[in-house]
Amino acid sequence: MTRKISILGATGSIGTSTIDLVERNREQFEVTAVTAATNVEKLADIARRTGAKLAVVADERRLGDLQGLLSGTGCRAAAGENALVEAAVAEADLVIAAIVGCAGLKPVMAAVECGKTIALANKEALVTAGALMMDAAAAKGATLLPIDSEHNAIFQCLAGSRLNDVSRIILTASGGPFRSATAQYIEAATPAQAVAHPNWSMGAKISVDSATLMNKGLELIEAHYLFGLPSEQLDVVIHPQSVIHSMVEFVDGSVLAQLGSPDMRTPIAYALAWPGRIATPAKRLDFAAVGRLDFETPDLQRFPALGLARHALESGGAAPIVLNAANEIAVASFLDGQIRFTDVAAFVQEALNHARYGTPRSIGDVLEIDRVTREKTRGMMKASCS
Ligand code: NAD
Ligand code: MG
Repeated sequence: MTRKISILGATGSIGTSTIDLVERNREQFEVTAVTAATNVEKLADIARRTGAKLAVVADERRLGDLQGLLSGTGCRAAAGENALVEAAVAEADLVIAAIVGCAGLKPVMAAVECGKTIALANKEALVTAGALMMDAAAAKGATLLPIDSEHNAIFQCLAGSRLNDVSRIILTASGGPFRSATAQYIEAATPAQAVAHPNWSMGAKISVDSATLMNKGLELIEAHYLFGLPSEQLDVVIHPQSVIHSMVEFVDGSVLAQLGSPDMRTPIAYALAWPGRIATPAKRLDFAAVGRLDFETPDLQRFPALGLARHALESGGAAPIVLNAANEIAVASFLDGQIRFTDVAAFVQEALNHARYGTPRSIGDVLEIDRVTREKTRGMMKASCS
């Protein structure tokens, strides 16, 4: 039987890896809907290749071009926020949530409300609305399968175990391109240096997050919601080889780890085929060639973003939304050459210091806190530049 899938964020790094796996296993998967932010050329190419029935571009100004590119294909073109939601709830056995940032929240939440099975890469959706999303998933019978390699590793290690028997989750972090750089070097780091990840090839935003270690901070919050453990039971260790993708320690002292070469197609394949498995072209581990596995404690002085995220997790309420929104704005400004690398964490810190919001009760509340934080962060940046 073929499994119907819709791919939100089909043109990105995760989207491209997903389509690669689908094309290698054509008899097992049928793509029903695909979406992108603005790149209609790439989106139309994907829609043609996969035979999708619906292609959605977020930017409404690009609808005419998309319609032109898809004419005669039998694939319907649509645009805008509501159409993204339509793609998320379209007929599919599995929704791949691979939009970057809080922009993916509404479609992911719509899929959750429909009780879908969702392969989640879009960690920002869970960071900003984790409690609401997990409650809705429980109420509607939705299943969340983590694609993020760490959470996918933990999910694999937990298979067949009781969560009560877990004493600790240990997220591994590569340490990013500046793991052994001096504070002075990091302060002057350019966007090109920041996106040059030593082990993984990813979209620009998550690459910068990996360099600041904000990515690991977002992943702590993601793990908290996915696995229901408090901050004290969530640890981070730097592991530069990115061979161990994360670990679970049980009450008896046993530690289970999931290992593999750093290739996102392995965790994506696990989500695509779950509870089964499919073959991937990921390079097999050659343990003698790897030689050794190293571990270090993260340095919160040089990488304050990790501490800020931990603090936001422990504060709860609106803090993770503020952390994420300020980070999205700051990372975009850094990539644009407007602010320094170290300003990213500084602006996030400032946004958290000034935030006074109650706990969000709805997705509308989350989106409003997100919007206001973005506005305020832009204002702080303007003020500091003038
Ligand atoms: P990317 O930038 O390569 O792709 C992002 C996708 O989202 C694109 O298809 C883009 O068109 C779409 N998009 C961007 N802004 C949008 C908007 N405003 N509205 C609608 N669509 C929009 O990013 P990526 O590296 O593929 O990451 C996607 C998500 O997966 C992120 O949340 C990231 O943290 C997570 N993730 C990625 C990796 C990786 O290896 N790339 C690993 C783990 C987790
Ligand atoms: Mg990850």
